[in-house]
Amino acid sequence: MSVLVYIENWNGKFKKSTCELVSYGKRLANGLGGSLTLLSIGRVAEDELKNLGAYGAGKILSAETDAPLDDKAYASLIASAAQNSGATLVVMAHNVTGKALAPRVAVRLNAGLVSAVNGLPVSYQPFVVNRKAFSGKSLMQAEITSDIKVITLSQNTAGIEPFAGNAAVETMDASAVTSGISVLSTEVQTGKILLSEADVVVSGGRGMRSADNWKPLEELAGVLGAATACSRPVSDEGWRPHHEHVGQTGKVVAPNLYFALGISGAIQHLAGISSSKVIVAVNKDPEAPIFSAADYGIVGDLQTVLPKMTEAFRKL
Ligand code: FAD
Repeated sequence: MSVLVYIENWNGKFKKSTCELVSYGKRLANGLGGSLTLLSIGRVAEDELKNLGAYGAGKILSAETDAPLDDKAYASLIASAAQNSGATLVVMAHNVTGKALAPRVAVRLNAGLVSAVNGLPVSYQPFVVNRKAFSGKSLMQAEITSDIKVITLSQNTAGIEPFAGNAAVETMDASAVTSGISVLSTEVQTGKILLSEADVVVSGGRGMRSADNWKPLEELAGVLGAATACSRPVSDEGWRPHHEHVGQTGKVVAPNLYFALGISGAIQHLAGISSSKVIVAVNKDPEAPIFSAADYGIVGDLQTVLPKMTEAFRKL
């Protein structure tokens, strides 16, 4: 029973979730009594790949290509790597990419799929996992009965266990893969912290009242070196761009620290932030549901609380 983990890179660097995913894959392989293979697609420096040895990577397949790939092309490379390495379990991160690719890979491998898995399996034989259900409000147990299995792991639910070891990198031929897209132009955003990768996220809701009031929130984010985010109505109103919208229908984030400012804490919003390590909420309504999900709460008006918080953090 061997395990294939797809490790996603961003401009040649691995994402924050990668170390947890690799370490998770190693523990799964140990639990199943098999081996772990990683698959990297795109151009990544060999040192960057070899560093993953510290998290349990044994063999890394590197499919180097400069071609712009679409989801179909990625899925077909992942499925081929699974078939060639004899993997019976394929693992991806439960993020925008994993959510798009996992079903395509499962269809190609005739595999059973469980998404948003929480931590290590409940049992390996039969293969039973915990997964988030009802927008993260509850956990359910699911058994995958097919010979080949595909899962996506919710970030920050398995933790990182270091392993001593060296990773051996093998090249995988990606030349035969065709894609239905061609890139006309690219625009690199500099100076912005990628929301899905941020350690600290400062997020605003309808309690911010209007687009013009976002300056103090951006100031706090600047002091903390944080990414900015928002609730869905905020992006629907056009106060903030849609790529900042967090939740069930937006991005899933898993920072160490999440500030929910003027956000009521609807279940659809919590679905996108429940893997955050620490949640701090500021809301003028002491009954707001966000306080049930938060680790720290401040009951107060943002107009007075936000500048004071920024000042206090500036002094640290
Ligand atoms: P509100 O619910 O209006 O809350 C504003 C909060 O700000 C209140 O708690 C209020 O007490 C507080 N407040 C007001 N003024 C101040 C002040 N001056 N100082 C301090 N606090 C103040 N929502 C998402 O966010 N993400 C999703 O992905 C998402 N997906 C959805 C999918 C579906 C199918 C549906 C039906 C809904 C979805 N929603 C989503 C919407 C969700 O149900 C809520 O309506 C939304 O999250 C509420 O956003 P909010 O907390 O910013 O606004």
